Amino acid sequence: MPICLCGQPHALGRRLLLASAVAAATLPMRAVTTRAQSTPASAGPANPALIEDLVAANRILYDQGVVDGFGHVSARHDKDPNRYLLSRSMAPGLVTAEDIMEYDLDSNAIDPRGRTSYLERFIHGAIYQARPDVRAVVHSHSPAVLPFADTKVALRPMNHIAGFLGGGVPVFEIRDTGNPASDMLIRNVVLGHALAMTLGKRPVALMRGHGSVAAAQSVRHVVFRAVYTEVNARVQAEAMKLGTPEFLNPQEAAAAMKTNDALVDRPWDLWKRRAMPK
Ligand SMILES: [Zn+2]
Repeated sequence: MPICLCGQPHALGRRLLLASAVAAATLPMRAVTTRAQSTPASAGPANPALIEDLVAANRILYDQGVVDGFGHVSARHDKDPNRYLLSRSMAPGLVTAEDIMEYDLDSNAIDPRGRTSYLERFIHGAIYQARPDVRAVVHSHSPAVLPFADTKVALRPMNHIAGFLGGGVPVFEIRDTGNPASDMLIRNVVLGHALAMTLGKRPVALMRGHGSVAAAQSVRHVVFRAVYTEVNARVQAEAMKLGTPEFLNPQEAAAAMKTNDALVDRPWDLWKRRAMPK
């Protein structure tokens, strides 16, 4: 049973929360219309180091099998917390600095210049609105995670590297937003807010019939979490063939996450060297 934001694993609470998210999202939707008519101002050029990390994140996530032709990674703008940076609509493994676009938190492109946007960019804007602590977001359809999104088997931390999963991994059910026949995509502000509500304060949420989202305090941290969410799912499925796994308890998971959060540069350097064009 997925866990709702009150921390309790009951479906009714989850449905109520999603319903209130949808209702709350009506106001931002109206604001989008108004704001879209007056072009939002740019926050100006982002730190080149942030752009470099964001480009590398796209390449790494492809190289590590987290994204393929689909999926995306964004970063909150370093000059304005109400802006974020995301590639134009294209395969992540091909992204360069010139492809990075700026968005406001309702996911309006600031200066599209004919470039197309990802249909699901609303995932990013909604999470940045809901989570001031989050500075980077990954959305993917990575394959090992899908069985946990589509069954009632909870994704739980198998080892210390995946300690960030210790607070529970909720599953977003798009049907609970009143969309019984959707195409499963988070294609507007309303659905973005509902997903952000399911994520709550956690680092990772799964999306039934779709994929997952990861959120973190930096681009490097979110790449670490997206990669090891996929690895953990693979290992957990293997372990469950052998028997009943002994997972990290919440205290172990929290302690491991604190340690690992200080070590993300180590795998980042390795992954970046592999993934970037020579
Ligand atoms: Zn998707």
